[in-house]
Parts: sequence; structure tokens; C-alpha cells
Amino acid sequence: MCGIMGYAGNRSVPRVLLSGLKRLEYRGYDSAGVAYFVDGRLEIQKAEGKLCNVEKLLHDKGFDHVQNENGGIGHTRWATHGRPTTQNAHPHKTGPIALVHNGIIENYQDIKCELLEKGHRPLSETDSELFGYLVLEEQKKGHSFVEAVRQSFLKVEGSCSVVLISEEEPGMIVGIRNGSPLVVALDPQGGVFFASDAQAIIEYTNEVAFVEMGDLVVGHQVDGRYQLDFYDSLTGTKLDRTTTKLNWSVESLDKQGYPHYMLKEIFEQPQSWIDTLNLLLDRAKQDPFPLAAQPSVELLRRAKQLQIIACGTSWHAALLGKYWIERWAKITVQVELASEFRYRDPVLSPDTLVIGISQSGETADTLGAIREMRSRGIPTLGICNVRGSSMAREADAALFTAAGPEVGVAATKTFTSQLLSLLVLAGALGCERKTLSLESGRELFDEVLRLPHFMDGYLHRSSQWLAQIDHVSKQVYRRKGFFFMGRGYSFPIALEGALKLKEIAYINAEGYAAGELKHGPIAMIDDEMVVVVLAPRDRWREKTISNLQEVKSRGACIIGIGNSDDQAFEEMSDFWIPLNVPKQIRPELFEALYPFLLVPAVQLLSYQVAVLRGTDVDQPRNLAKSVTVE
Ligand code: GLU
Repeated sequence: MCGIMGYAGNRSVPRVLLSGLKRLEYRGYDSAGVAYFVDGRLEIQKAEGKLCNVEKLLHDKGFDHVQNENGGIGHTRWATHGRPTTQNAHPHKTGPIALVHNGIIENYQDIKCELLEKGHRPLSETDSELFGYLVLEEQKKGHSFVEAVRQSFLKVEGSCSVVLISEEEPGMIVGIRNGSPLVVALDPQGGVFFASDAQAIIEYTNEVAFVEMGDLVVGHQVDGRYQLDFYDSLTGTKLDRTTTKLNWSVESLDKQGYPHYMLKEIFEQPQSWIDTLNLLLDRAKQDPFPLAAQPSVELLRRAKQLQIIACGTSWHAALLGKYWIERWAKITVQVELASEFRYRDPVLSPDTLVIGISQSGETADTLGAIREMRSRGIPTLGICNVRGSSMAREADAALFTAAGPEVGVAATKTFTSQLLSLLVLAGALGCERKTLSLESGRELFDEVLRLPHFMDGYLHRSSQWLAQIDHVSKQVYRRKGFFFMGRGYSFPIALEGALKLKEIAYINAEGYAAGELKHGPIAMIDDEMVVVVLAPRDRWREKTISNLQEVKSRGACIIGIGNSDDQAFEEMSDFWIPLNVPKQIRPELFEALYPFLLVPAVQLLSYQVAVLRGTDVDQPRNLAKSVTVE
């Protein structure tokens, strides 16, 4: 996701900012910018598109006119509020202050109204710029720069990190975190670094402090020496924070401190969603964003019917894709397991597009089916995560997800990236075909764009949520069997949850459409059985809750996964995993996005259970990452 870099010290400020931002480029962004001191004033260079555009601006200016020790800040932006234009790019300058921001200020509408009433006129469409005006207002009350930042931060809701400098405090950088990660470090050559990720500064020092949630950090010079001071942003009390010496071997650098690749990849999902959205949508246009032009999109536009074929986790993604595509784009979708489809005699009308989904693009059955269809002259499309894979080359067109390399054998981020692609296709095709109103399309895409930020904050901020899943896992990991049940959008997630548990924890687990349990499997229920009930507040909730009662009254141990404010559901459950839902959303629309909150919950549950059972999480027995055999 978007990146922050800040530096004050003896090295060349623009060069350090650029080198740090370059290391953060993998996160995906749509514009970039830097701010630094020239003759006591902050100068800003920013540009749409890639970092090299900013680099060119700096080259044209020459790096040497910059006053190094006074510091600077830089940013790569992934727009959520306002288009990815130069004007909206960060840093934003307000009076003497320049700031960069990662995340979302959720109550920005209220803040904006207040600021407009006070006569302020923001120059950009972003939520971020407003923060600068809040700081100015606080300074007017007589607060110091640092205290004004703290006071302003108390006024904003949402998951964010902000880094600021001021012409009135040359040499000082202030950072504050309540969301996206922030790392700080002292420069051994004299200076302070601020960055969203240790990778951005590891070439300068390996001793860093990870800024904790709710911390405010001030990097500045005291008696000629640079230091970092930490404060509690709520109370203003000074804090003692320790540094961590990163001793990253190449392998642990890859795992970035996570005990397993799978856990790292679960946490990387918000980033892979951003990258996938960037690839699929033409974000230079809006209202709502159209699909980026590519041959696969042309094939989709022409199709009258879709036949999706896939295996394993990709098949679950396809099942969910059917729900979205039929709901919004009103195109008939058939979904079938590739291994079955290819060996029967399917009858397809000539205007059918066959879509194969495979994260590796090498899955033998899916590939075999694609080849068979091509030989029959039926148009084919491959959705996969690997460029240059056999499916990408052999299908008539390919559509890529951008989950990045996935090392853990059990699919996690590739799955949700597939889901996101299908959801975006459904919404965008719906708008094009006018089967989804432009207004609903716009609302849907607004929510979709906010989802990665929301989930990122949720995964990184909510240690309580993770502790809760850990607690639940400890209570159930010795049980003999699991059912996962859900209806509607939660049904394919129930299948996926059960598959994860089988794959990595080797526990007998079945996913069921909640309404199906009574048609046989309910005979299995006794007090040794765990039933994971997926029932977010959507149009199916009531029905699923009735099915919960049926298994509960037969002794099953219930793990409920539902909205955090669903007290009735919580009370019916033996164990509870709450889902927090972003504010200000329209429930009829948001229900389609619940899978993106449910999936990390079931992934983490399976992961914790597997760890407790001592299995080889990243390389489970008998499994391979890319199934190239039939
Ligand atoms: N919400 C801010 C914006 O739209 C920050 C986005 C980011 O995290 O890059 O500009």
C-alpha cells in the first residue's frame, strides 16, 4: 500500500527520500511527491504516475539546492479520496506545514464542514489535506507544533499514519500512528528516518523502532544530536520505547518476522487487493472506474454466457463470482470443477466464454479443459496470478491478479485477489450493461477502494481480534471434526474455511450451504463436533441462525462469526469471532463485501489450529503449490 518516507540529517534529503520511496514501490501507488527545505521554506515536488516523474523534477532542479539538515518528507499515494492527480498527491502544504498521510480519515466530511465554516479552502479533494488545517487551528490556540499535531489527531477517526514537517521547526519531523505501519530509526551518520516499512531504511541502519499504535514520535536535534522522542498520543505522556536490531537473513527477510509465510501472506492481503485493483481498473477515469482496456475485457464484453472451470480454492472463488456476476451483470454463469468438466461432454452455446481460474496458471485439469475448449473453437480466458504461465499463454486472453508471489502452499492472498477480480468484473460489467445503476456502481467501487485500507488497519491494529481467534483456536483444536456453514456469499467461504483446515491442520472438516446440513450431515453432529457458523448481517442471516439452532440443539459446539454488534448471535455461540464493519456504508451493498472480512477470519482460525497441532503450515504433507498433475 502507499508509502511514507521522512528524513532529517546529514545526508542528501532528496536522495534519501527517493531511495526509500523506491523500496516502497512494490506497494502499488498512483502518484508521488516530496517536500524539503530550500532557504527556510518548504518546496514541494509532486507528480501523477510513477516515482520517476518526481525524480525527473528533482534532477531538473538539481539536488544541491536543498538544505539537508532541515529534513523532508515523501509519499507514494494510493488514492482513496479524490482522483490520482498531481494536485491530490502528497505532501500537502498548509501554511508552514507539509504532511503526508497513509490511510483514511473516516469523519472527513464532518471535519471538512467545520473547516469550511472557519473559512479554510482546501486545495485538494483528499481527506489528508484537512489534517494540516486542523493543526493550524490548534496552533492558533497557542499549542506548539507537536502538541497541535497530537490534539488534531484526537479529532480524526479511522486508520491512519501521518508524518509532518513545519517551516517553523526546521530539522524536526513528527509522526503519529493509528493504522498503517510506521518505522523510525536514528541515522548512524546523524539524522532520523521515518518510513512505512523497515525495508526503506535497512540500507542505512538495521536498528529501528516500530512505532506502536497510538504513539506520537518526534525526531529532532537536541544539543546538536539527533534523537527520537515517543509520546502517548492520547495523554501526551512521554514513553520509553526500545529499538529492535534487525538481523534479517535472506529467508527471514522474506518472511519479514512472521513465523510462517502463510501468516505473512494473510497479512499481505490488503496490499494484494490494491495491486489487483490497480491492474484491473482504469483509475485515471471515474464514475465509476471502468475496466482497464485489455483483450480479456473485450472477450468478456462479447460473452452472452460464462462457463467457469477451476479446482480447489479457485473453484470456491468461481462459486462466489457467479453470485456477483449474476446479481449485477445479469450474465448466466455456470461453475464446474475442471476435472469433471473436461471428461464429460459439456454442451456449450457458441456465445459462451470459458474462463479457467488457477493461481499458478499451471493447474493440469484447468489447463486441459482450456485446451479442449480451444480446439473446439470456443473462446477461452485464463485468470491467474503468474504472467507467462501456460494458461496465460494458451488461453485466448489472460486476466492477471496481482497477489505477488505466494510461498505458503495453502492459497490465501491469491484466493482473495481472485475474489476481488471477479467482484470488480461483475460490478464494472453491470455498469456497462446498465444492469447495475451508475449510482450503485459508484457506491460499490467507493467501498471496494476503501476495503484494503480498512482491512489493513483491522489486521494490524486489532491485536484483540487476533487474540480472540487465538483463544477460540485453543479451545477447539483437539476436536474430532468441523463443519463450516453459511448461506449466500458466505457459502463458498464455508467451503474455503473447511478446505484450509483440512489442508494445513489435517482435521476432518466440511463446508456446507447452511440449508443443506439437515439433508444428511446433521446425523454427524454430537458434542465432539464444532460448527463454524458464518452469518454476517446480510439477507441470509436469519435463515442461517435457524440452522445454527438445529445443530446447537444436537450438542454441537458453535463458533459464531458475525457482526460485532450482533449480540443475539454472539449469545447463541459458544465461541465468538466478531467482524467489525466500516462505518457509513449501505448494508444492501456492503453485504457483497462481507467475504473479504470473513476470509481472513477463517484463514487465521485454520492457521492457529494448525500451529497448535504442530503441523508444517507452509508445506503441508501431500500437497504441492501448483498442481500440474490431473
Ligand atoms: N486517503 C488519502 C488520499 O486519498 C491517503 C491515501 C494513501 O494512503 O495513500 O490521499
